[in-house]
Amino acid sequence: MDNAALDHDVVIVGAGFGGLGSAIELKRQGLENIAILEREDDLGGTWYVNHYPGLAVDIASVTYSFSFEPNPYWSRLFAPGPELKRYADHVADTYDLRRHMEFGVLVERAEWDDDAHHWTVHTADGRSRTARYLVTATGFLSQPHTPDFEGMDSFAGKILHTTAWEDGYDFTGKRVAVIGTGATAVQLIPEIARTATALTVFQRTPIWVVPKIDFAIPKPVQDLFAAVPLTQKAARLANTAMLEALMVFGVLHFKQAKPGNKLAALLGKAHLRTQVRDAGTRKKLTPSYDFGCKRPTFSNAYFPVFNQPNVTLQTSSITRVEPDGILCEDGRKTEIDTLVLATGFNLWDTNFPAFQIVGREGRDLGAWWREGRFQAYEGVAVPKMPNFLSLNSPYSYSGLSYFTTVEGQMKHIARLFGELRRRGADTFEVTEDANTRYLDRATRALDSSVFYAGDCASSRSYYFNQHGEATLLRPASTLTTLREMDSFPLDDYTYA
Ligand code: NAP
Repeated sequence: MDNAALDHDVVIVGAGFGGLGSAIELKRQGLENIAILEREDDLGGTWYVNHYPGLAVDIASVTYSFSFEPNPYWSRLFAPGPELKRYADHVADTYDLRRHMEFGVLVERAEWDDDAHHWTVHTADGRSRTARYLVTATGFLSQPHTPDFEGMDSFAGKILHTTAWEDGYDFTGKRVAVIGTGATAVQLIPEIARTATALTVFQRTPIWVVPKIDFAIPKPVQDLFAAVPLTQKAARLANTAMLEALMVFGVLHFKQAKPGNKLAALLGKAHLRTQVRDAGTRKKLTPSYDFGCKRPTFSNAYFPVFNQPNVTLQTSSITRVEPDGILCEDGRKTEIDTLVLATGFNLWDTNFPAFQIVGREGRDLGAWWREGRFQAYEGVAVPKMPNFLSLNSPYSYSGLSYFTTVEGQMKHIARLFGELRRRGADTFEVTEDANTRYLDRATRALDSSVFYAGDCASSRSYYFNQHGEATLLRPASTLTTLREMDSFPLDDYTYA
């Protein structure tokens, strides 16, 4: 079937930064008939969905942005969430992507037609459309997790999940519970503690928190970044190098560089000691797993909250939710009128992939990953899934800033589509052999990481899948990742 007979050259699912980056690259490669399907009613992905109080990046903004589209006007070193949404809008406008977007469109299933060499994409509105290529940019942290506590339905007060925030919700005079102590809770809890009459934080697993060196970026510096972009590039380089050292030496090469990891843990412990007065509370807030087993976070405002008289840390397990409170295993009941669920996301059961994808010979991607091993060649391609690129795959997350991941994948797209053009082909598929070699390499490399060489037993980290394998992070430096995405052997794919 020639492309003219298809509805689209490519369907991209998701209008977050992954969707924006892949669309920019595919346009550069000459594809014009692009549909970006987004289940929400606006673009920006996580930065549209999340708008809880205190939301900000926790990777400095000079790094957490596209390298080819710097924003000189970030208001702070760590920009607040709404600035990221505005930046996503700016990128979409600059690269003329809005006209490709369709909002409120939920993709439910896609299947490969091996005779006609195209994907058929089915959406919840009952429509289906054909496309030569399918790109999923559905995010890592996009399927909210709501725990199923006994009695949850009976709760008579207000329940707020951090991904479905009611803007302007006033905590003044409220008795509030926050369940969860991940990066989201760390940002949100200080905001709630400001006004709530009583706040109880229900912690199952403590998180490593290190100091956040944050400040407003003075106007003259913003002007300098705008007038001499090289200065912002230098700031990006310095910050990225620091994050990279943390990732490579603290996490990926734990076995070889244990002191680096221990130093980071010492920094976290020193931060806690200087910020929390009560020794018992400090003990409860100290992780019993190695630094890096689960994503650490940066905050100066989180720990001091536990010195406040209106804040209680509850570490006993939740037995059940009652109409007016939460009962814990220690027999204590906490009476509340507002229940905040900062309980994160489900990656491995519902998000890999985010909808059913059926490739050649009936390979169902979700079933194949779950019944076998989670795997994806270079974190983007899967055998028996022709013309399919999955941006949020096992082993795809590179470095600490998501933009490193996306920009690496853009390089992969450029190399792959360049080869398609050179050959006059329109179909690609990664070989089983190349995929297996990549999986073996990633598995071996991870042996040195904190995930396997360290103590992660008590971490409950989403870096691990349901089989206990740490299959989220790409075990390579960002420089290596970017180089490999630009130079993978072209015959790792077949072309037709
Ligand atoms: P998360 O890290 O998965 O944390 C979820 C929290 O909920 C954990 O403390 C978890 O406890 C708890 N929880 C879940 N189910 C529970 C249950 N049944 N009973 C008791 N506790 C339960 O999710 P998140 O905080 O939303 O953060 C997710 C990721 O988003 C972060 O790691 C980060 O990558 C990203 N993020 C980034 C920023 C930023 O500034 N850029 C801000 C926020 C989030 P356990 O640990 O015991 O499971």
